[in-house]
Amino acid sequence: MVNAIIFGAPGSGKGTYASRLQSPLEVDVIATGDIFREIMKEENPLGTKVKSYVEKGLLVPDNVVIEVIKQRLAKIPKGKGFILDGYPRTIEQAKNLSKIVKIDLVIQLIVPDWIIIERLSTRRICKNCGAVYNTRYLKPKVEGICDKCGGPLYQRSDDTPEVIKNRIDVYERQTQPILRFYKEAGVPIIDFKTESPEMPPEVAVEKILNGLKKLQLF
Ligand code: ADP
Repeated sequence: MVNAIIFGAPGSGKGTYASRLQSPLEVDVIATGDIFREIMKEENPLGTKVKSYVEKGLLVPDNVVIEVIKQRLAKIPKGKGFILDGYPRTIEQAKNLSKIVKIDLVIQLIVPDWIIIERLSTRRICKNCGAVYNTRYLKPKVEGICDKCGGPLYQRSDDTPEVIKNRIDVYERQTQPILRFYKEAGVPIIDFKTESPEMPPEVAVEKILNGLKKLQLF
């Protein structure tokens, strides 16, 4: 059983790799971005509030995120581990998390800015199951249709050039510093570096699993 955080800039591949690590590691994947996209569909005050942040590429306030993650973590069956994708994103969130669960591992994805921009501007998501595709580098078998469930693919409203820029800024200012928090706490960190946008996800997943083996976490 492993409790891991997958950490990296927007578009670094967190969701893509986490979904492929889920079955070998037998863990739940919790993606706060996906949870917020569901909440945003609801026409209530919380949905409207969350939307006003996500659409600008800003972080949803800590008090909202912390409550949401607490509820989701409580649903994990006893004895099962998890991968957190998109949480924590601030020091406050990291500190709060350490009060609820023990984190065994941080997987850090290191990707140059030009690849991030390239990937996010061509990214497509399945409306039905949330699977991630890319019109250039990770094409579905049939254009516009999800390989896994046949659902329609769409472009996220925050994958526009201006919002992408904001998200990268927010990541560098508010999220990147968290890494120090985990280093100082002695949590093992696996680094995975991407040098080409063409690299298939399977290559990254295999390297990450090798890193886990070395740490005897897999
Ligand atoms: P990406 O990693 O590609 O930027 P996500 O799907 O993880 O996208 O997140 C989308 C948006 O949801 C973020 O830009 C932010 O507005 C909000 N969000 C997700 N996770 C958090 C979090 N832990 N704290 C605050 N806001 C969050």
